[in-house]
Amino acid sequence: MKDNLINEFDSLLKISKNIIIIPHKNPDGDALGSSLALNFFLIEKGHNSFVISPNEYPSFLNWLPGQSKIINFSLNQKKGISLINKADLILTLDFNDLSRTGEMESLLKSIKVPFIMIDHHENPKSYANITFSEPQISSTSEMIYNIVSKLDDTIIDTKIATCLYTGMMTDTGSFRFPSTTSNTYLIASKLIDFGANHSKIHEKIYDNYTFDRIRLLGTCLSNLKKIKDLPIVYTFLSQEDLHLNNFKKGDTEGFVNYGLSLKNISLSVIMIEDRSQNLIKMSFRSKGNFSVNKFAKTYFNGGGHHNAAGGTSHKSLKETEKFFLSAIKECKKDFRI
Ligand code: 5GP
Ligand code: MN
Repeated sequence: MKDNLINEFDSLLKISKNIIIIPHKNPDGDALGSSLALNFFLIEKGHNSFVISPNEYPSFLNWLPGQSKIINFSLNQKKGISLINKADLILTLDFNDLSRTGEMESLLKSIKVPFIMIDHHENPKSYANITFSEPQISSTSEMIYNIVSKLDDTIIDTKIATCLYTGMMTDTGSFRFPSTTSNTYLIASKLIDFGANHSKIHEKIYDNYTFDRIRLLGTCLSNLKKIKDLPIVYTFLSQEDLHLNNFKKGDTEGFVNYGLSLKNISLSVIMIEDRSQNLIKMSFRSKGNFSVNKFAKTYFNGGGHHNAAGGTSHKSLKETEKFFLSAIKECKKDFRI
């Protein structure tokens, strides 16, 4: 992380009273953890700072410190718009393209205040006055730790440490993905010293399935298909599958990873039907060389990271499956087995 960027950030903070922090749409543990941690930091520094989430977040995050004060833009547009119109500075966290803010995109594109991007996805767009973009870092939360510890490490307390630890843990698959470095562990260790309870946090995030959710996972696993002669599995959940298991937001989070727990599988895909939006949400996870970021961008108008990405399809579930299989055919040579 470049010191000159941190100095620029510091100077901009000094002249900004009203600050808005925005995570991406459908925020995950990293998006919310990093946003809430930075929000605590800025409030402690005397700013008037708020987190505005484009939409709802999953219930397994509804215990995070500070989460009750998050403004949900899709439910409370009036308040969101009024706060954004009063902002001196906007911080966008854990995404690098304003289209990832959904309904907020047009408003954000129209307002004339400085933007700061803090993110770890590849191919950042150039909408921000200061761009912190570090695709090699495991999580935005790790980046926030690096930034706030340079700005003023005396402010990091149990609440900030808990939020950052949650973001780092969720984006690294509990510190096991290749993006995890010795520095990630070093920071995690410091966060534990600052009061993050690693065992409790893990339990709150992962051991919280409802009966409906575990049955939905059962459906997802029974729908799993293997592509012949390739190290690829995929599965799907239809709107009916979701309905039958009383689907709630966040219930399918992490399901795509199960495919990668199979021996000799290096790509796992899930397609989830969303009839209310008339689309299929795609999630891709890979191991090794195959870039799901590129694959999602080329075929499914999406993106993400080298080994974890998402996208969308506007075809039916059946047609999406066909399209996916033909896309895989084109990339066959990338899978050496
Ligand atoms: P997930 O599969 O869990 O939704 O997302 C995996 C990763 O890909 C996350 O880092 C997420 O931010 C990114 N991602 C998911 N969906 C999209 C999408 O539609 N467009 C882009 N650019 N990134 C996405
Ligand atoms: Mn992230």
